[in-house]
Amino acid sequence: MTTIADALQRVHDRIDRAASEAGRDPREISLLAVSKTKPAPMVRDAYDAGQRAFGENYLQDALPKITELAGLGIEWHYIGRIQSNKTREIAEHFAWVHGIDKLKHARRLGEQRPSGHPPLNCCIQVNLSGEASKGGITPDAVSELADRMESMPGLVLRGLMTMPDPHSSSEKQLAVFQHLAGLKRELNAAGHRMDTLSMGMSRDLELAIAAGATLVRIGTDIFGARN
Ligand SMILES: *Cc1c(COP(=O)(O)O)cnc(C)c1O
Repeated sequence: MTTIADALQRVHDRIDRAASEAGRDPREISLLAVSKTKPAPMVRDAYDAGQRAFGENYLQDALPKITELAGLGIEWHYIGRIQSNKTREIAEHFAWVHGIDKLKHARRLGEQRPSGHPPLNCCIQVNLSGEASKGGITPDAVSELADRMESMPGLVLRGLMTMPDPHSSSEKQLAVFQHLAGLKRELNAAGHRMDTLSMGMSRDLELAIAAGATLVRIGTDIFGARN
């Protein structure tokens, strides 16, 4: 049986190799361990192996884990779909939110961020695969949402996030990642100080790193398949 520590090490090795093939410094790439549906003891195993940032999609599943593991200083990232009636709990319990695709949600998260907390780190989710069922705004709407978010006190706009269609070819997935990297470059050139490209999952982290990912979100290859 492979342990979570072994699995984490293998993911770090893949990140290092992909970075070196892309001529990048692996320290530019951070690893978010996606622990959705996995129990608190597995999160603790990964923590004991040195992992500090964890991603969750389902609030009902995440909140008991966050409570149970409070005190470890884990950095929790909300990576699921955002519902308006859940923004307060997200703003109270997470350090990062990756899937912002509505001005209304950004505004609520900013207003509901408790005053003693540092600003909530946010990524705008961009839909570049054209799948209507997927979250994310169209690329032409990113600049306006970024402008609006940068004037909100409880938030800090850290970057962009995307998910390619998992059934598309590697070439198409790479093109999606490169498109997101290009969008970030344009926004940086226009004065937005964002530093994060949140892209890449278990099966496509190499492609995402080749295209410039600074944060990869890995679940299956650390914790095993989900039920
Ligand atoms: C589940 C999930 C991941 C992790 O996916 P794996 O294929 O298990 O690595 C990453 N990002 C988001 C938004 C997810 O929902």
